[in-house]
Amino acid sequence: MIQADLHIHTKYSLDSSINPKSLVDQLYSHGSIRVIAITDHNTVEGYRKVRELAAPYPDILVIPGIEIGTPLGDLIVLGADQAPPKLRDVNEVISFAKEKDGVVIVPHPYREYGLGSSAKHYAVDAIETLNGSTPLHMNKLAENLAKEMGLPSVAGSDAHNVDQLWTVCNEIQASLDIDEILKAIRRGLVRPFPTGKSIHF
Ligand SMILES: [Zn+2]
Repeated sequence: MIQADLHIHTKYSLDSSINPKSLVDQLYSHGSIRVIAITDHNTVEGYRKVRELAAPYPDILVIPGIEIGTPLGDLIVLGADQAPPKLRDVNEVISFAKEKDGVVIVPHPYREYGLGSSAKHYAVDAIETLNGSTPLHMNKLAENLAKEMGLPSVAGSDAHNVDQLWTVCNEIQASLDIDEILKAIRRGLVRPFPTGKSIHF
């Protein structure tokens, strides 16, 4: 069993101030979260930097990811260590994820840049029902969407600054291994929960 934050932006997302070095330091010293996914907007440069800095520490794990903007809303692909070609729609992102054996998550479906209920038309793998940077009533709608679609629910802090880190978390029935974690998410062996750290919007 591991604990993971599956949605973090580094400064390589132009709207985030999180420095890869301080992120790795904070993860290393965190009491329970050992795994993070870096999900910068349309780039994996931040992931590469964080992975490099985390490499000396065998008991923390960095999952490659990317948050991709489409005309309908954002999608997160976990397991992708490359950005897809530009000009993409939801189905193109899903095909890209399949090629990479990645997991497609619909982040904050009812917030700005969310897919909303149109997510129902697409073969995504999971719904982010607990986004640390989204008001509770919108997360509640996302929970209903996951239930309706029969999909696993996941959490992500969506941190864009260090104060927003570690507000929410996932308990995943897997060991410290990327493939195992991605498989467990697809199979719904994941439980999102708020950590109790107060949420800053
Ligand atoms: Zn995000």
